[in-house]
Parts: sequence; C-alpha cells; structure tokens
Amino acid sequence: MELNFINQKYILDLLENAKNANDEIISKALDKADSGETLAHSEIAALLKTENTEFIERIYKTAGKIKRRIYGNRIVMFAPVYVSDYCVNRCTYCSFNQSHDFIRSKLTMEQLREEVKILEKMGHKRLALEAGESEKECSIDYILDCIKTIYEMKFENGEIRRINVNIAATTEENYKKLKNAGIGTYILFQETYNETVYNKFHVSGPKKDFNWHLNAFDRAQNAGIDDVGGGVLFGLSDPYFDVMGLLLHNEHLEKKYNTGFHTISVPRLCPASGMNINDFSNLVDDETFAKITAVIRIAVPFTGMILSTRENRDMRRKLLQLGISQISAGSATEVGGYQKRRRNEIITPQFFVNDERSAVSIIGELIDDGYIPSFCTACYRSGRTGDRFMSLAKSGQIGNVCLPNALMTLCEYSIDYGDAHFREKAASMIKNEIPNISNESVRRKTIKNLEKISTGQQRDFFV
Ligand code: SAM
Repeated sequence: MELNFINQKYILDLLENAKNANDEIISKALDKADSGETLAHSEIAALLKTENTEFIERIYKTAGKIKRRIYGNRIVMFAPVYVSDYCVNRCTYCSFNQSHDFIRSKLTMEQLREEVKILEKMGHKRLALEAGESEKECSIDYILDCIKTIYEMKFENGEIRRINVNIAATTEENYKKLKNAGIGTYILFQETYNETVYNKFHVSGPKKDFNWHLNAFDRAQNAGIDDVGGGVLFGLSDPYFDVMGLLLHNEHLEKKYNTGFHTISVPRLCPASGMNINDFSNLVDDETFAKITAVIRIAVPFTGMILSTRENRDMRRKLLQLGISQISAGSATEVGGYQKRRRNEIITPQFFVNDERSAVSIIGELIDDGYIPSFCTACYRSGRTGDRFMSLAKSGQIGNVCLPNALMTLCEYSIDYGDAHFREKAASMIKNEIPNISNESVRRKTIKNLEKISTGQQRDFFV
C-alpha cells in the first residue's frame, strides 16, 4: 500500500514559524541537544533557519561534541563502484539521463573483477555498488551476479566484506533477493522531499513516481533489509525543507520498523555532462551546507553520516568535524572508471568529483588530523544491523566494540598497503589509542599487532 508520510504543508509551516524563533528558543534547543535530549521539529527548524553567526558557531560546537561523544575519532572508509550507466529515467541533473547521447556500458563479470582488484589494492573493504535504472540492461539478476562476483573476489590480502547497494527503487521481491545476497545497507536518495520540485526534475521513467520512490524503504524493510540509508541531493530544492523531509522519513521508519536510517548521505549537486549547473536555482553555498550537516548531526545523533568526493578537501575536513562519520576515498564515478584511470583514458563520470586525491593520501591525512580511518565491517558480519545496532549505539556501548575493530583494521591496512612513513604514523596513532581499549585481551592483541607494523612483518592475523 502506498502512503505519503511527508506532509508538505506541515514542513512549510514549520519553516515559516521558525523565522519567528527568538534567541531564547534557539539557545534552549542547543542546551537540550548538548545534554543529549531529542529536539522537537520546531526547534530543529529554528536551528536550520538561524542566520545569527554566534548561534551558527554554537551549532557547530554542539554537533562536533555530539559526534565525538558517539563516534570518537573514527571515520569509516568506502568507495563506489559503478557497474552500469544504462538508465530509463530522465532526471535533469544526472548525466545518466535517458535522453543523453553517449555510449553506455555495463561491466562484464571479468571487467568487474578487474575493478575490484584495483579497489582491493587500495585497501578498501567496503563498497557502494552504483547503477542507473534499466530492467532490460541492468536487471536484478545482473546486480546479484555483481554482488556474488565482488564477494568472491580475493586479490592478494584484499577482500570486500560489505557491499552497500545504491540502485533504483525496486519491488519487495527484488529487495528479498538483495537481502539474500548479503548486502550491507540499501541506499537510496529521495533527491528532494518537495513533491512539486521532484516532479519538475524527474521528467519521465519509473523514478518519476514520487510515492514509489518514497516507499522504497518500506518495501526494503518488509523484505528484511533493516539497514537503509537515506539522503537528498542538495541543490535541487530548499535545503531546509529537505532536511525536515529527511527527519520525517526517519521518524516514519522508526515508528513503523523500530529503526530509522542507518545512514544519511549529504550529496551536493555537482556539474555533470548533459546538464548546466547554473540552471539550478537552489544551489547550496558552503556556509549553508556546513550548517545543514551540523543540524542533521544534532537531530539524529546515532545515524551514520556519509560524505563523498563530490566535496573538495577543505569542505571534507570541515564537515568531518561537524558530524560526518563515513567518507569515500580514491573514487571513480564512471562505469569501469578505476581501470580507465589506470590506463589514463579520458573519464566521463556520472558527476565530476572534487577530491581527486588517492585513497592512501586521504587516509594518511585523516591520521595527520587525528582521526582513525576504519575499515571495519564487523557489525554487519556479526548481525548487528537494524535495531540491534541502534540499541547498542544508543546505550553508548558501540564505542567499546568499534574502537578496537577500527584499530585492528587500521593495523591490517598499514601492514598490507602502507609504506614505511604511513606505517610509522599509523603505529603512533594506534599506540596512543591502546589505553582507550576497555577489553584487556583485545588490548593485548592490539599491542601484538602494533609490533608487526613497526617491524614491517607480514600479517598473520585476519580481521
Ligand atoms: N539509479 C539510482 C536511483 O535512481 O536512485 C541511484 C544511483 S545514482 C548512481 C546515485 C546518486 O547520484 C543519485 O541518487 C543522485 O542523487 C546522485 N547524482 C546524480 N547526478 C548528480 C550530480 N550531477 N551531482 C551530484 N550527485 C548526483
């Protein structure tokens, strides 16, 4: 049964009333957030709407504090892999738009193995599988083949342990197949929660149906996928409206399935072939984007927040402080893009990325900035998904599990892929963190692994 739980008028009214929120209301909302209380919709709207620089600074501080309290200094790493750019939709912002004339392709399983080999050589353990929508060229069976191929592909010490899937909204039956294939999170961006704007940018194709797209996570949940990841494409519509839409969607899922979004992504519109970014009148400037990210962190403290290489290095560094817990590195956003890059072929991506640094330099910089790059996929592999993950996160216990796992996977990464300089700084970070590991035997194990990094020995442990 289709339902539309996004009350457009309710959101518009909230944002209109938020203009009248006085300093006392905003200050009280920030005090509440600081002490871990859940904010009311009207308070979140007031934070979004404030232009007062002192309050914006407080929003940043509060978001940063919440982030450190819940996630510590761990940052989860991932990379996208594009398998097909065939698409039957006409979305005006996307280069895959059906009416764009270019030579489309999808990876053969052999080509996919080559892509995965490169990704494994970069040290990635977690992928986001991306595809355009085409039942004919990119059927669910093709996607299932891709998933199987990726999970089976082991190259040197590398392996992909978690595949998150970002494919078009589909049927409950197909979601069951994805569940059985062992996917991690099913990710789908609503693009915008403003139905009028949605209809304008989605000209034709199955994705044009707002409710079909909106109800995708209900079908996924009914099929047993309990880790779902939402997002909107900032730049299409009023960003404040879309943040409120995301939060209402999250509450709908919490109410109905006992668990909201596992992650929220914050993609921002980028130039892409076949579209002119200047035709979009709701582009979000850097200050607004930072405020939005921080307010989302405050509103949903336990939801992972994902940032891609759509953002440049400076923006990524800033947003990591405000709430982002997961970033991509070394990304190619084109079908076969990793092999093409290696062959120095001209790349025509889905959108142009703004952080083109290699994975290892991004990961190295994270350490320099005091973060622990984590390649951990243990929650999903141990069945800590959906409400089991959320209740652990809310009880504050998750850090006891995540910290040692993050350090262990960083040990693994350093030994397998780091040069002497990288190993040295990773070893020093791990050494500093060891006292924070609460479990005695895990602490001893980490100390043992640390010796291997320092002496450049082969790895004899497997995470
Ligand atoms: N085909 C899937 C669907 O229909 O939802 C999603 C796959 S698509 C590869 C992933 C996401 O890229 C889209 O949901 C959209 O938000 C984003 N995207 C498309 N064009 C973009 C652009 N020009 N700049 C930034 N992100 C874009």
